[in-house]
Amino acid sequence: MSEHSIAIVGGRIIDGTGRPPIPDGAIVTYGSKIIAVGPRKDITLPEGAEVIDANGKTVIPGFIDSHTHFILMGMRVLTTLDLSKTRSLTEVLQLIKKRIPEVPKGAWLEGHGWDESSWPERRYPMKWDLDPISSEVPIVLTPYYGHLVAVNSVALEAANVSKDTSNPPGGEVVKDPETKEPTGILRDEAIRLISEVKPPTTREISLQGLREACAIALKWGCTSIHELDADAIQLSTYQTAREDGSLRVRAYVMPTARFTEEIIDSLGVLGLRTGFGDEFYRIGAAKIFIDGSMGARTAVFTEPYKDDPSTKGLFTISPEELKTRVTKAHDYGMQITIHAIGDGGIEAALDAYEDALKKNNREDHRHRIEHCEILTEKQIQRIKRLGVIPSMQPNFAGEWGGPGGMYDQRLGPERLKMNNPYRRLLDEGIRVAFGSDCGYCPPWPMNPLYGLWAAVRHPIEGSSISLEEAVKGYTLDAAHASFEEGIKGSLEPGKLADIAVLSQDLYAIAPDEIKNVTVDLTMVGGKIEYRAYG
Ligand SMILES: [Zn+2]
Repeated sequence: MSEHSIAIVGGRIIDGTGRPPIPDGAIVTYGSKIIAVGPRKDITLPEGAEVIDANGKTVIPGFIDSHTHFILMGMRVLTTLDLSKTRSLTEVLQLIKKRIPEVPKGAWLEGHGWDESSWPERRYPMKWDLDPISSEVPIVLTPYYGHLVAVNSVALEAANVSKDTSNPPGGEVVKDPETKEPTGILRDEAIRLISEVKPPTTREISLQGLREACAIALKWGCTSIHELDADAIQLSTYQTAREDGSLRVRAYVMPTARFTEEIIDSLGVLGLRTGFGDEFYRIGAAKIFIDGSMGARTAVFTEPYKDDPSTKGLFTISPEELKTRVTKAHDYGMQITIHAIGDGGIEAALDAYEDALKKNNREDHRHRIEHCEILTEKQIQRIKRLGVIPSMQPNFAGEWGGPGGMYDQRLGPERLKMNNPYRRLLDEGIRVAFGSDCGYCPPWPMNPLYGLWAAVRHPIEGSSISLEEAVKGYTLDAAHASFEEGIKGSLEPGKLADIAVLSQDLYAIAPDEIKNVTVDLTMVGGKIEYRAYG
């Protein structure tokens, strides 16, 4: 590869360290690294450098999304249609027709969220509507209210549903009253006839999903991601993509220890641990769960839910089991991260870390808590003392964290005040990593600009942070959460040339406009991987 030099000049640089921006800046790259950054007047451009004029727009380190379900996001884009905004059955059929060619071989096409009562046709999609579109790809459509699916003949055949299939208890295979042919509509318990034969994700589908996800990330200026809950197929997919050159975004991949300790044991047997890999693909933390979500009232709290006083949430494993699992991974030398949302879940996570560290102290372990949403003051102090990293998603605060929002309904005003308290955490010197939870948590996309907006416009008074601090959470401190702050996450000489040029100067627009900003250019390791124009 030629050692090419690029100079991005005339942008307002937010360098990722939290320092104030450089108004008329210049960044020079050579090969895969940054060699100079500063005010334009102080920088001499190397001869022959390709010069890119940023025209006063904001230039930042490439975003690092520290919480993604990256492959899943890519796969969903390829194999799932959002039908919630469709205005007719005709429109649904057109959407399906358009998507069919993109569906990876062996995968099913799914569609969700239709509402036939808002269509002029006022009826379900039937097998006869869907069959002309594909005789190869199984199609499964679900209305917004659930309780039934509409499928094509390929899906019926895969499930062995025919004229002779009788209704399972609690369900109905809807048939034509005259011919007795299945219509493609299956109700309630009959849905399982279809869902049970859905094929598992293959390596090929997973790889196509990863490639799609890379394209999406680059469009959002993301140059690195942390993949949560990777199973064996996903781990091997990353390695394949690394080898064939299609991994265009740097990945820190966290093996799942959600249901069993098998992956931790396997890594222990091999002697592999967090940090193994290279600048594009590295083994991350072992991921463990302790609670659920606030939406489902399964996040664990020390006090009952306000809108359902019969419950305080649900531990996915017992705090004792968590301790055992954490200690094992910790003793293998793994970084660990625990999904914990409510103050009860967070307490259990902190107890487990404290326990493991007491038995076997390790400097600079960087154990994390994913989400870490509803905190007490005491827990903030414990996080600080134990050196734990909160990995948080500002879009949750933006979407649900305001008065009258979902968190308010679930928790009431007192606990609401302590949702995603970024200001408090930063004031204690705690380094917070930001991410999106894309691929898993609808309704927002990966878009880090939405996250920046939510962090600087936090709906709880006193919880918002400055733009430079928010960028740091999405860059340098996200790199810190993967032990990679020495090589990336800020625009400084010697670091990897991972850079994004935004579509606006973030300081020249109203803060509420930040969420509408897009990305003009994304560079990974000195190579331009995305350009909005030309
Ligand atoms: Zn997640």
